[in-house]
Amino acid sequence: MCALYGGIEAGGTKFVCALGTSPQDLGVLKQIPTTTPAETIGQVIDFFREQKELSAVGIASFGPIDLNLNSPTYGYITTTPKPGWAFADLARAVGRALKVPVGFDTDANVAGLGEHHWGAAQGLDNFIYLTIGTGIGGGGMVNGKLIHGLVHPEIGHIRIPHDKKADPYAGHCPFHGDCFEGLACGPALQERWGQPAETLPANHPAWALEARYLALAVNNLVCTLFPQKVILGGGIMEQPQLLPLIRENVQKLLNGYIQAQEILKDIDHYIVAPKLGKQAGVLGAIVLAMQAQTGV
Ligand code: ZN
Repeated sequence: MCALYGGIEAGGTKFVCALGTSPQDLGVLKQIPTTTPAETIGQVIDFFREQKELSAVGIASFGPIDLNLNSPTYGYITTTPKPGWAFADLARAVGRALKVPVGFDTDANVAGLGEHHWGAAQGLDNFIYLTIGTGIGGGGMVNGKLIHGLVHPEIGHIRIPHDKKADPYAGHCPFHGDCFEGLACGPALQERWGQPAETLPANHPAWALEARYLALAVNNLVCTLFPQKVILGGGIMEQPQLLPLIRENVQKLLNGYIQAQEILKDIDHYIVAPKLGKQAGVLGAIVLAMQAQTGV
């Protein structure tokens, strides 16, 4: 029997659907624009209905989401400012329509799960995965388990120092203004500098400031959780000049205090890009589907 798993990366601009069992056989990638929940989720369901031998589905979702199995809104996207999507049923709607087990978690946790299974975090029990794009999400594992708590981590909304003289921009977050996401997400770069982030040249001062903000957040996560690795993904990290700048800033911020050779001498292997690249999310969703099927 040929079991196929469905992976859904549910993002604020598009949903990516895929089928497969590993990076080697990942196929049928379909992108569906994120419009309204009825239209987008309807198209996702139609796509998977056409697939034979579908055993289970995993969903890596933008958030915040409800992960409490005892809650009446389990499987929903909750307080998102995205118009039309607040309290939209996602996981239960997909499960009801396709009649297969559905795994559900945050986009960053699931991308981390993909990296743990096949990528940069293989064999590690403690790591952080941050995605820096339209928003900033963070997840990963502590002691071999994806990070969950009362809800789920919201690393994008931690507070980092904001020198308003050097950077008078007020911040993009509708809830907090100048939280980490408010200062460092893609739309914040666009508003601050007056042009889309991807059009800013590599030597533009935007990138030094961006690296500083990302390094401040990584510094705080290193000091709180002491991960064995920090993986930085998302559209903003496609700027190749950022990663070396972030590593340099993190070393300066920690200032030799933490005596770990991984940070002092080998930071190029400590703060890294996702090995699965843009497919970390959808491959993580395939792992989530496998776990949903076996009830792990
Ligand atoms: Zn915020």
